[in-house]
Amino acid sequence: MGLGKVYLVGAGPGDRGLITVKAFKYLEKADVVVYDRLVNVDLLDYAREDAEIIYVGKESSFHLVPQDRINEIILEKAKLGKTVVRLKGGDPYVFGRGGEEGESLYDNGIEFEVVPGITSAIGGLCYAGIPITHRDMASSFHVITGHQKNDINLDMDWSVVGKDNGTLVFLMSIENIREVVNGLVSNGKDEDTPIAFISWASTYRQKKIVSTLKNAISIVENKEIQSPALFVVGNVVTLSDKLDFFARKPLYKKTVIITRNKEQNSIFRDKLEELGAKVIEVSTIKIKTIYENSNKLIDAIKNKTMKAIAFTSSNAVKSFFEILKNNRIDTRILSDYDIFSIGSHTSYELEKHGIYNYIESMDYTGAGLADTINKYYISMNHKENKNNKYAKKNIELIYPCSKIATNNFVHKLSKEIKVNRVEVYENQMDTGYRERLISSLEEEKCPYIAFSSSSAVNNIMNLIGMENKKLLEKAKIISIGRVTTKTIEKYNLKVFKEADKPSIDYMIEAMKI
Ligand code: SAH
Repeated sequence: MGLGKVYLVGAGPGDRGLITVKAFKYLEKADVVVYDRLVNVDLLDYAREDAEIIYVGKESSFHLVPQDRINEIILEKAKLGKTVVRLKGGDPYVFGRGGEEGESLYDNGIEFEVVPGITSAIGGLCYAGIPITHRDMASSFHVITGHQKNDINLDMDWSVVGKDNGTLVFLMSIENIREVVNGLVSNGKDEDTPIAFISWASTYRQKKIVSTLKNAISIVENKEIQSPALFVVGNVVTLSDKLDFFARKPLYKKTVIITRNKEQNSIFRDKLEELGAKVIEVSTIKIKTIYENSNKLIDAIKNKTMKAIAFTSSNAVKSFFEILKNNRIDTRILSDYDIFSIGSHTSYELEKHGIYNYIESMDYTGAGLADTINKYYISMNHKENKNNKYAKKNIELIYPCSKIATNNFVHKLSKEIKVNRVEVYENQMDTGYRERLISSLEEEKCPYIAFSSSSAVNNIMNLIGMENKKLLEKAKIISIGRVTTKTIEKYNLKVFKEADKPSIDYMIEAMKI
């Protein structure tokens, strides 16, 4: 068996979007991921489902896993022929001991590659509104550790940094703040120099304190700021209000629990995170394509009298195309079909599969979709249109749906339309998220919880159990629409806000208020 390869990868300062494309690519293919405390754990979702995930987090001055042991773990896995991603906060070479890990790999003949990351020293400051240089304020910067090997005195020439006018950024300096501040002041740094502390920069936990050098020690001693934090000294700090785009995001410091299945959530989640929210994703349902019904679906599509397909969910679209793909059915077979979509989310999924020419329901409900379809064919078949070459008679509609879909939509369709219902997917309960949801509801102060369907409400209640219902009482419940609200109220829970229109975007609007 050949030796594996090791990637020393920078994960960025915290925000999961601040990882490089290359890092992401390696993370997706890794057999083993070895990660640190400062790495955003959400990034682990991008690892393969069967990847081995090893936590070697270190607390400052309390080393959970000693460096030698970390090196050993990486070597062991690589010698087994595995592809290892060693994921580190920020950049691997900025006080990340990446150099030591690289040397150990070299000494043991293991191939490796380093993927630089956005260091907190620059990216973290940026998220606090502080540019590390500025033409009028700082023409250099120093990135300095406040923590030395074996805790001996900081090996620093304070007379140099004390006099430097560039921006000074100290990492790991909270425990040694007295030594750092005294070193600077006794070597000429003005006590009125602007300073900032930023902890958990670029994450939902970010905290920023702006002051002057003379107050720095008391800020730390009063525990106003805690590790992991950056300590910034310099005039660039004065810009930190003006440039603080992060704190100005409308959902900054808000927590939102969302309750849909993994793939659907990604759009919702991305949008919420873009607005600054901390998102906790709880998956209640797993979607499983019913391949056993493949023949039924394919026969229906091949039957030339069927000329319409109605999609009432994005899952239906996904499973429909999965079945086609699985059976190598060329999608051009759909070219003369009328395709109907219940709403923007479903349409988005259709577009992902290259279908743009669809007809979308006006009001996102089953009844609304039926109405749209009825009108579409009635107008085509109108008396004056008798000789219209587009006039359609004997419409047969394929309705790919979930196993538990009711027939409400079908009942609202005109009797002239024959429906061929094909169950293409089923919903299964995903119990893996129970603990995650319960602890989020316990820990978060007043989170939003967004329900985008009645079944999500029922599933959440089943997942946490009626005994935990009180946890939902302190959350602000956002409902996607009338039907979902009714279901929520059945559990005697109060809806904080119902979306004006049933879509993800309107649910987000409801949270901004
Ligand atoms: N390689 C990392 C630094 C590792 S040393 C990088 O390039 O950013 C660990 C120190 O980095 C912490 O003690 C803290 O001072 C700083 N740090 C890392 N991420 C941080 C964050 N999101 N917010 C504030 N400080 C951070």
